[in-house]
Amino acid sequence: MTESRESEVLASVPDRLFIGGAWVAGTSGRTIRVSDPATGTVIKTIADASVADGAAALDAAVAAQESWAATAPRVRGEILRRAFDLLQERREDFALLMTLEMGKPLMEARGEVAYGGEFLRWFGEEAVRISGRYGTNPEGTGRMIVSQHPVGPCFLITPWNFPLAMATRKVAPALAAGCTVVVKPAELTPLTTLFFAQLLEDVGLPAGVVNVVTTSTSAAVSGPIIADPRLRKLSFTGSTGVGRRLIEQSAASVLRVSMELGGNAPFVVFEDAELDKAVEGALLAKFRNVGQACTAANRFIVHESIATEFARRVTERVKGYAVGRGTEDGVTIGPLINGAAVDKAAELVQDAIARGAAVTTGGKKIEGAGSFFEPTVLTGVRPGSDILREEIFGPVLSIVTFADEDDAVRIANDTEYGLVSYVFTQDLARGQRMIERLQTGMMGLNIGVVSNAAAPFGGVKQSGVGREGGFEGIHEYLSTKYTLTPDP
Ligand code: NAD
Repeated sequence: MTESRESEVLASVPDRLFIGGAWVAGTSGRTIRVSDPATGTVIKTIADASVADGAAALDAAVAAQESWAATAPRVRGEILRRAFDLLQERREDFALLMTLEMGKPLMEARGEVAYGGEFLRWFGEEAVRISGRYGTNPEGTGRMIVSQHPVGPCFLITPWNFPLAMATRKVAPALAAGCTVVVKPAELTPLTTLFFAQLLEDVGLPAGVVNVVTTSTSAAVSGPIIADPRLRKLSFTGSTGVGRRLIEQSAASVLRVSMELGGNAPFVVFEDAELDKAVEGALLAKFRNVGQACTAANRFIVHESIATEFARRVTERVKGYAVGRGTEDGVTIGPLINGAAVDKAAELVQDAIARGAAVTTGGKKIEGAGSFFEPTVLTGVRPGSDILREEIFGPVLSIVTFADEDDAVRIANDTEYGLVSYVFTQDLARGQRMIERLQTGMMGLNIGVVSNAAAPFGGVKQSGVGREGGFEGIHEYLSTKYTLTPDP
């Protein structure tokens, strides 16, 4: 990857806010410096939105709402489809940009472009399938009409770990449903969202339908938007702590919310599992995005009879990983997002070791430029260790053992989270029992990745409320209206 290619892509990303169809400097005069986590160097400086800019973005979304809702669903769908097509043309630029601002290896960034793009295609198709029903009431005295309507202007807050997919997963269904939006990306990775807004502009999205505010003062800018009675929906992806605060703020105006929050995924390997497949699934579920995924397997719960062999096999594979800047050929493990993430991984590993776990590979921070942590495998992790309770968000695979199915279920469900679970078994009946017994919004049965634009993504318990993707995804942005008319 040449430096000039990197500079060229970075130069093509807008450095301003996108409000009402215009690229504006913002009123604060402040800037955000975006860094490459692999080197720690600043790669671009962009506008830092003020409270007034946030208000202007909401004004623009409100102003565009009526005409966007009245735009034919087919037209809305075709705009999304054109966005999908243009994204394919710009695929390499988007992938490189994500690697530069977020750190993931280029291969994975390309995977995210593919995944993120599918939401544009899927919801472009769903736009024309919004429908209602009409029928006689049970008494036979009237007609009941049930119709679906866009909820209205939405505020979309996204995290840094999947800069494109987390934006398309919200923007596409909102637009398909006929809603206008204000998007606030994470301050660590705002560039991809700006680049995406430019793409939407290029495919002819009307002014004001999508507005982007990049800010280093998220709470200050978001608060007044959430409190504004013209806002009709908040969709948030991020940590459970911030999600909880946003739900509290939303309660004041009984704002409709969707919350995609943290996870603590169990990865259960039964004694009858096909071990090779379980190892492949484990590596995918753990090391994709360098472990920085809400769906990352956090606790490997392995039957005691196969735990030693499972650990040996995963350790051998993890020792072969190449750590480095995601733009370099052959790199499989990029940096973590920042130094704080590295320190957190190190603390969790230290705590696990202090309580009796053993390290079979890795275990330490990598000194030098950039925020790197060694890909790590821990065995014999003891109950009560912090690493079993908290989201690791790093390349650490920690193994605990279980004795029987009830034990596995108890350990797997022993968390306040419930986003995704992975189960490996060749026993069909056992697999079905696990679907019923695990407290989870999603499940990978003999597979290590579940995300798909055609499927409802979301969690139970403190992993959130609502679903993104699938047939369900568009309903997060629609409200149901019931009308009764007398018998004609
Ligand atoms: P975060 O909660 O720190 O930040 C998420 C977003 O909220 C960012 O845009 C941030 O700027 C903004 N934010 C932070 N404080 C805010 C406030 N007080 N008011 C308004 N906005 C605020 O999370 P993160 O570190 O960016 O992302 C990692 C977390 O996201 C993990 O917990 C992960 O599990 C979760 N996540 C969940 C899903 C899912 O679909 N369930 C997907 C990806 C990430």
